[in-house]
Amino acid sequence: MRNKLQRWVPGLLGTGLLSSLVITAYAAHRADDFVEVTSLNPNIVISLPYATEDNFCDQVLYPVERCFLRRSVAERLDKVQKDLEKEGYGLKIWDGYRPRSVQYKMWAIKPNSNYVANPRRGSRHNRGAAVDLTLIDFETKQEVKMPTDYDVFSLRAHAYYSNLPKEVLANKRRLQTAMTKHGFQIMKTEWWHFDASGWTRFPLMNRRLGELAKEADALKEPAETDER
Ligand SMILES: [Zn+2]
Repeated sequence: MRNKLQRWVPGLLGTGLLSSLVITAYAAHRADDFVEVTSLNPNIVISLPYATEDNFCDQVLYPVERCFLRRSVAERLDKVQKDLEKEGYGLKIWDGYRPRSVQYKMWAIKPNSNYVANPRRGSRHNRGAAVDLTLIDFETKQEVKMPTDYDVFSLRAHAYYSNLPKEVLANKRRLQTAMTKHGFQIMKTEWWHFDASGWTRFPLMNRRLGELAKEADALKEPAETDER
């Protein structure tokens, strides 16, 4: 093996192929980049209660209503959305990446691990590897009936709770099936929360949403030209 490498590595370096491969790898998107979900799939609806006062903290926690996730996680969601569209449905996201500073703020307001992950350990949302969402009708964009509203912490909100009207149960199962097919894991106590498998490889982060939004906007806008 070693002898083989000794033979072909210098050969590749000689042709410049290896260095161009390395450059391509760096220039290409990385799986752990933060990406705005709608830039990958504009059909996914974003509606973040934490960007409003209408949440369990009764205050605005996000400066912008923009949803970011690690690129490889957002790519999985794109696949889920495409699958659901074939059945006449779509996704509406309630939360994605959440800066750790917001986790501390939530904990200060509700220091109860039934509601909020302890910020010292962090939430999978702080890693950009978890998402809260529901199903919508693709045409009308109306939410379908689900067991509870968002952030209602009760037995009824448990992912495997089944004492529900048939239609609600079918909607919940449709969402769970679509998500697990593309590498998301169900959270037992919250039907709306899914973790991307492999989440441990993404560290806890505190990049501000406003900052990520600025970067995303810079990528969208064509470079300004100097007309002098
Ligand atoms: Zn969640």
